[in-house]
Amino acid sequence: MAESENRVVCIVDTSLLLFGNLIPRKEIRYITSSRVVDEIYKDNLKREVVKGYIASGRLEVENPSKKFLDKAMEIARDISELSKLSQADLDIIALAMKHVETDTVIVITDDFSIQNILENLGIDYLPVRRKIKDRVRRWRFICRKCGKKYLNDIQICPICGGKVTRHRVRY
Ligand SMILES: [Zn+2]
Repeated sequence: MAESENRVVCIVDTSLLLFGNLIPRKEIRYITSSRVVDEIYKDNLKREVVKGYIASGRLEVENPSKKFLDKAMEIARDISELSKLSQADLDIIALAMKHVETDTVIVITDDFSIQNILENLGIDYLPVRRKIKDRVRRWRFICRKCGKKYLNDIQICPICGGKVTRHRVRY
């Protein structure tokens, strides 16, 4: 699948679907689970928008396998976050764990428990509305348009479509 090479996989929970837009760029794949879609469909206004995303292929719906759901639950239990997570939250973590094996992955979420788990897993994430105060790892790439910060060289910002370039890290 040559076409999928070098594409950034953005795993999205309800945050971006409710409070942002999916930019139409061939370099970016947006993936969510059907349980997240069910949550969105409770919102009359966003339901039509997200239906359109799915129909046009801009948003892919993928449900994680039991193997990765089990792994997600295991790490959540290990760091005492399991009770704070919904099934849809676990889907997001499981999808990220699966795709990070083969793709450059960014999870877009405002959920602190999901962020905490991703931090432990070393998987990149980005909030939509909240700012990360003390991010443990050092980001090296910055969107020139909206200022969002990334760990990976993803070139195009999945939030605004701006150009992402390397930022000098001062130690
Ligand atoms: Zn941006």
